[in-house]
Amino acid sequence: MSKVSVTDKGRMHYSLRGGEIEPLGRGLYSVPGSEGTYTVDLAVFGGQESCNCPARTSCYHLIAATMYRAKTTAARRRSSRPKVSPEDVEAKLARMGA
Ligand SMILES: [Zn+2]
Repeated sequence: MSKVSVTDKGRMHYSLRGGEIEPLGRGLYSVPGSEGTYTVDLAVFGGQESCNCPARTSCYHLIAATMYRAKTTAARRRSSRPKVSPEDVEAKLARMGA
């Protein structure tokens, strides 16, 4: 049996379930796993990246969350490029109920 690295497993998991990953804010991500949903902490404020699944070593949830963050950060950079008009800001505030 060939050994699949945790990085490969994370990549595979991201391509299968990446759409179900949810950012919880402050570097926390909700990542679906085979036996439930786990919370991954990408330690954006420093410290150690971690996941609350039973695996004590680096796990594929962590890899999948890292990939999710990389993709969403890249998307945000692209979408923040166009200049925002005052009308857009008004419309956005109205949507937020401000
Ligand atoms: Zn995990």
